[in-house]
Amino acid sequence: MATHYTKLLIIGSGPAGYSAAIYGARAMMAPIMVQGLQPGGQLTITTDVENYPGFRDVIQGPWLMEEMKAQAEHVGTRIVWDTIVDIDLASGSPFRAVGDSGDEYWGDAVVIATGAQAKWLGVPGEMELGGKGVSACATCDGFFFRGKRVAVIGGGNTAVEEALYLTNHAERVTLIHRRDTLRAERILQQRLFAHPKIAVLWNRSVERFEGDPAGAGLTHLVLRDRVTGRDEDFAVDGAFVAIGHAPSTQLFKGKLELDEGGYIVVEPGTPKTAIPGVFAAGDVMDHTYRQAVTAAGTGCMAALDAERFLSGLSIDLQGHAEAAE
Ligand code: NDP
Repeated sequence: MATHYTKLLIIGSGPAGYSAAIYGARAMMAPIMVQGLQPGGQLTITTDVENYPGFRDVIQGPWLMEEMKAQAEHVGTRIVWDTIVDIDLASGSPFRAVGDSGDEYWGDAVVIATGAQAKWLGVPGEMELGGKGVSACATCDGFFFRGKRVAVIGGGNTAVEEALYLTNHAERVTLIHRRDTLRAERILQQRLFAHPKIAVLWNRSVERFEGDPAGAGLTHLVLRDRVTGRDEDFAVDGAFVAIGHAPSTQLFKGKLELDEGGYIVVEPGTPKTAIPGVFAAGDVMDHTYRQAVTAAGTGCMAALDAERFLSGLSIDLQGHAEAAE
């Protein structure tokens, strides 16, 4: 078990974490980034990215994250494959965190960029049939449903993108939504409604997933018509839950203020938490925009504010740069 010291400890490795790392390294903070359970974050389970500025052609999410990682390392970030399982924020800077490996990480400033994860419906059969027909990631599991019938549950951008993606594999895709309007962007809605393989079932909630976890897996959904109140069986081979995301803030409960959705509360317009030297960036503090580019923006802001915080502590960044040469 080792002890690591850094001026800037970054927890999480999505666009927010990598941007904080790039800015932090260039400001001579020699950051250590602890990657977490899903290195690269949510973009690693996405395929096409069309809205990250700077790329005229469609790029792939995993490729973009590899590029961010390479850039962060190139400018001087040390990236560690570990997951923070405990952190002491109450004692002030330097902050002590403990990794799953048993290693200790000390950071004069900390950027929390742990992101968010897919939400589940929490209805019977969902967990039992997880990986047996029920999934929350079309790009990970869509391939298994070649020529089959699948359902996507949700009405936001994620649900519509997953439905469109699944048309590459499945024979029939049904979007099941609990209301009669989608909240997805108009352009995505247009593509969805125009696609010959996709149908939409409105005003339906999923009451249960049914099938045989030990055998054939998912066979059907029990849907409730929210207008008539009637239940009906809906036969499918696969079901993709795409109802949004929850922030990964378990580690910070009781240590930082969280809002009712579990997101870290920051000073409005900044990545500053109530604890000096502790910053939050990306989806872990943003329940409104949740884009790769906005996460990258707040990661940058967190590194800039960390630099100001360290200057206030009179931590000698230039001295570190000389020592590193
Ligand atoms: P959203 O919160 O936007 O949408 C969640 C959807 O799931 C809503 O339609 C909601 O229904 C439905 N839902 C929530 N809970 C339940 C439930 N218990 N049962 C049934 N349905 C439920 O989440 P997304 O993941 O779609 O998007 C998150 C953010 O990421 C958004 O800001 C989105 O714009 C962004 N995003 C952007 C992309 C892009 O730009 N390419 C791609 C993917 C996401 P209701 O509408 O009734 O509330």
